[in-house]
Amino acid sequence: MRPKCPRCGSCNTLYLMYGYPTDDAFELVERGIAVFGGGCLVTGNEKDSLCGDCGKEFDGEWDLDALLEAGEPDR
Ligand SMILES: [Zn+2]
Repeated sequence: MRPKCPRCGSCNTLYLMYGYPTDDAFELVERGIAVFGGGCLVTGNEKDSLCGDCGKEFDGEWDLDALLEAGEPDR
């Protein structure tokens, strides 16, 4: 469900969020799906994906609703 890194092919990718965090955003971060990037200054050219393995930023396709509904994380 996560996009693959175009550089190394890893599925260990994170959704990059910008701007003011919402409740959904915090839940995504808590589950290790997303990270906050770049602070509050948004230029419109941000990539929305970050590779957790090689650090590449890229544009990926995310189905965040599906990820949120994918079930409870292991606690
Ligand atoms: Zn990568």
